[in-house]
Amino acid sequence: MIIAIDGPAAAGKGTLAKRLAAHFHLAYLETGLLYRAVGLRILRARQNPADAKAAAEAASSIAADDLHAPELRGEAAAGAASIVATHPEVRDALLNFQRNFARNPPGDVKGAALDGRDIGTVICPERDVIKLYVFASLAKRAERRVRELQARGESPIYARVLQDMRERDLRDASRGVAALKIAPDAFKIDTSDLTADQAFAKALDFIKSRTRPAG
Ligand code: C5P
Repeated sequence: MIIAIDGPAAAGKGTLAKRLAAHFHLAYLETGLLYRAVGLRILRARQNPADAKAAAEAASSIAADDLHAPELRGEAAAGAASIVATHPEVRDALLNFQRNFARNPPGDVKGAALDGRDIGTVICPERDVIKLYVFASLAKRAERRVRELQARGESPIYARVLQDMRERDLRDASRGVAALKIAPDAFKIDTSDLTADQAFAKALDFIKSRTRPAG
């Protein structure tokens, strides 16, 4: 079983993906961390995230071990991630890692759940992949991101978070490669007014309807 979950930042993808992965015994890959790891490498090397060549070089050696640094969760890494993610060379360099994870997940598992922006459209577009598109209003997503940052000990300003998120949405939706879009066969879940439990229940209903044997 492969579950692909796409959608904008802070829409609830990660929470849902983790719960589905635990429920169905799947390995979970948060693909945003790959782009964040590339962004962080670039920032640490004092290079420019807009430099496609430097970013592609950083992306070429990203491995599972690079996905644990706490700084990956910060806004600096997020901003750099959304810039390096616009380079086709970077996306190509990360493609095989993601496809391999989906088809040959690590550990004794029954499949994989991946969340990101282009999982159901580019990484795993095949028909047998269960695709979910999770979204919420910009205001709700900014509120959630503020709470996440506060929980990490940061002191975010709501208006600033909202503005950053709006810019990142625009970059993600308008870039030439793998722009955020909805796969035609994706099941859409608007989490603006849903609890995590309600979003999980909706996803589960859909997945059961997809996997139930015919007749
Ligand atoms: O999901 P997260 O906020 O961690 O992603 C950080 C950035 O990485 C996003 O703004 C997006 O530009 C990029 N990204 C991407 N494709 C993915 C996952 C993330 O382009 N599959």
